[in-house]
Amino acid sequence: MKRENKGLKNEGKRAKMKRILNFSAGPSALPLEVLERAREELLSFNGIGASVMEISHRSKIFFQVFEKAKNGIKEVMDLPENYEVLFISGGASLQFAMIPMNFLKKKACYVVTGAWSFKAMKEAEKFKEFQGKNSKLEILRAYSSEPDFSVIPLPSEIEIDKQADYVHYCSNETIDGVEFDYDLEAGEIPVICDASSSIMSKRIDVSKYSMIYAGAQKNLGPSGITIVLMRKELLELCNLKLPTLLSYKSFSENNSMPNTPNTWGIYLIGLMCDWIKEKGGLEKIEEVNRKKAELVYKEIDSSDGFYRGRAKPNARSRMNVTFALPSKDLEEQFCVEAKRLGMDGLKGHRSVGGIRVSLYNAITLEDVAKLVEFMRDFRLKKS
Ligand code: PMP
Repeated sequence: MKRENKGLKNEGKRAKMKRILNFSAGPSALPLEVLERAREELLSFNGIGASVMEISHRSKIFFQVFEKAKNGIKEVMDLPENYEVLFISGGASLQFAMIPMNFLKKKACYVVTGAWSFKAMKEAEKFKEFQGKNSKLEILRAYSSEPDFSVIPLPSEIEIDKQADYVHYCSNETIDGVEFDYDLEAGEIPVICDASSSIMSKRIDVSKYSMIYAGAQKNLGPSGITIVLMRKELLELCNLKLPTLLSYKSFSENNSMPNTPNTWGIYLIGLMCDWIKEKGGLEKIEEVNRKKAELVYKEIDSSDGFYRGRAKPNARSRMNVTFALPSKDLEEQFCVEAKRLGMDGLKGHRSVGGIRVSLYNAITLEDVAKLVEFMRDFRLKKS
């Protein structure tokens, strides 16, 4: 057994040497410490002789894993008592559909600031279509920056219907690279936020939201699992006539396990929360994230137009920095040369092109400094 362990360690060293600087938008880089811990526990979790992936989700040992992840989220995000944490399999895209199914009774407001909030609104429209031609449901745009998606509205520019069942927005648009730097407030109307690419990147006041959801594959773990933080009063408003796996109520009543959950994902979320706590919590994480983004934007701003930021300066995302180069050809060369230097995941989303640098929590300030040095060298060489 000892020899086997040593072998694994050697493999690990080789893997570590080969690791890239991964600026991918998601699934994205996870902290090495988290991956190493998961590797250590892969063959035998807590000495049980099996991995978390291989044990029953109803077992005592998995219950502890589950509670650790749930409590980790509560602690890191300082969740108020009246909120539930749900784990739902499937991506954040499933939430786009579940939200209208569960909460839309008359009308819903969508703040459209990028590709993801647009998709969320489209799913609500599909739900209305599904109701048939006579459906009286209304899907309203409280704001739209379509088609540019390069700005974030001022609060006064968002028109929320006073009768709306909820208002939905996306705090950080992963494709377009625009981010809200304030919490959207809507008085008595429930605010629902897709925080997939900003969750745990900074401190937010959860009490201002009725529901926050986030696919895990950026700052929290693997894809295929979404965390949903829901105020208990909102849960009481759920439509009760839904199939089990589409109902928030059934997830709440069954401790997120109306069926077999993504056990491995839940385990990794627990490890990620430990890691954030070890790093000093969200205040520290936020401080580092601000510095990381500043480094990249500073290079863009001092490039004499060689790098052209996609987002308007006051809408810039700290997590996804999007920009274009003078030509597609140069953008391709940029990616190829970066890859040669061990930096990958920089190609912009296929729908918008350009370059996208994703700066999630696992990316260090040193990683960003290396990238910025490359950006500067590339610019001086090519301009
Ligand atoms: N919302 C945002 C902000 C996203 O970035 C993504 C995916 N990158 C999604 C929703 C959809 O997530 P999934 O592919 O896991 O359904």
